[in-house]
Amino acid sequence: MSRFVVKFGGSNLKNAEDLFKILEVLRMYNKNLIIVISAAYNVTNQLIDAVAKIDRLNVDEFLTSLYERYRSFLGKDDEQLKERVFEIKNVLLGAKLLGEVPVQVQDRIVSHGERCSSLMLTKFLQDHGFNCEEALPELFGLVTDGRFGNATVELETSRKNAISFFERGKNYVVPGFYGLHEGRVTILGRGGSDYTATCLAYCLDAERVDLYKDVSGFMTCDPKHVNNVKPVRSLSYDEAAELSYFGAKILHHATVEPLRKKGIPLYIFNINNFKSIDEPDTIITANGSMTKDVVKSISFTDDIAVIQFKGSNVGRVPGLLGQIASTFGAENVNIKSVITAQTSINVLISRQDLEKSQKIVSRIKIAEVEQIDFKTNISLIAAVGNGILQRHGIAARIFTAVSKEKINVLMISAGASEVTVYFIVSTADRDKALRAIHEEFFGGEGK
Ligand code: ASP
Ligand code: MG
Repeated sequence: MSRFVVKFGGSNLKNAEDLFKILEVLRMYNKNLIIVISAAYNVTNQLIDAVAKIDRLNVDEFLTSLYERYRSFLGKDDEQLKERVFEIKNVLLGAKLLGEVPVQVQDRIVSHGERCSSLMLTKFLQDHGFNCEEALPELFGLVTDGRFGNATVELETSRKNAISFFERGKNYVVPGFYGLHEGRVTILGRGGSDYTATCLAYCLDAERVDLYKDVSGFMTCDPKHVNNVKPVRSLSYDEAAELSYFGAKILHHATVEPLRKKGIPLYIFNINNFKSIDEPDTIITANGSMTKDVVKSISFTDDIAVIQFKGSNVGRVPGLLGQIASTFGAENVNIKSVITAQTSINVLISRQDLEKSQKIVSRIKIAEVEQIDFKTNISLIAAVGNGILQRHGIAARIFTAVSKEKINVLMISAGASEVTVYFIVSTADRDKALRAIHEEFFGGEGK
């Protein structure tokens, strides 16, 4: 029987009723399932908080309330579940004694919600006659590159491990969000359970990945910022990857990468208006169709800052960009994108890396660089759609719409990806710009 990977997020795990919804959905599949599960709603945030306040943490109280949360899903005590929740007791006590949580231990603690969820869900499903067993990444060997906080899965090694572990004909429940590197837990970044699901699909040659959420798939824009948004029924891997890279929160940014390699389709469902397993809200496949107006969706991120290296000739000096990039790389600061011109090299980084970058930059000595500026309080807006660069006049429509609102565009990039045009505005202008473009391509009134 072919295999599907099915993933449920934290928003699908708020209370005991949600478990029955999950059971109902699972019963619709006549397939072998790998069920990937996130921590219960808000638990990851609580774990991150516990790490931040470790010196003041009452370890027993904290774990007791965590157990209470998970116990309430089952509606009864469960010794094994209790043991699972308290597994990190010594880790927390040790860290408290130290007064800080070493980076190698942080990910172990932050990923704990997923391990509690997977045991709880396995028990629930078994109690209700749904055959399954738990499979932990530490046992089947989901291997990562070891980057704490934001690791990447090593697909080939993991594939070899997984195929000898997962038996055909069985259903498994797997905690998402983490893998291992040399025996240490490394998390895959916030929202990483999506990525766990697609990595497993790659490893086990699954037929399809179904992600359950509490929102209705991709939209033409974020409904919190723009009115009259519409659902987006289908996207290519490239389009979905670019939208999530540039801020669409619905998918973890690396989710589609493992699928692209094997052409496995991704379906996104809203569990609250679930109709059938063949009627998802959004389907993501290799298929790159072009719509009449080309732009399919607009995303944005405020998590951006720009470092400008200015000098009359910087755009023409060989090796300069390499020098800047390797200095940042050595300090583990990720460069999100680069926009160059004759007189400036603009390096886009995450806002969170700003302080670190200021220190790094103060050490870079390059004769041609006359001045270094930092641009903050800015936002990046990305318009995404197949054919955006090929079809004449699309970029012009984007920028005319924005300029009609008298919004100053600070920087533009097109061409780095075939499906994206992005630009930077001041955060104060962000929503106005989003509404102007949305109105131009999708009609309706802005908020
Ligand atoms: N629980 C983790 C988070 O909140 C991972 C996930 O939900 O996918 O980021
Ligand atoms: Mg989540």
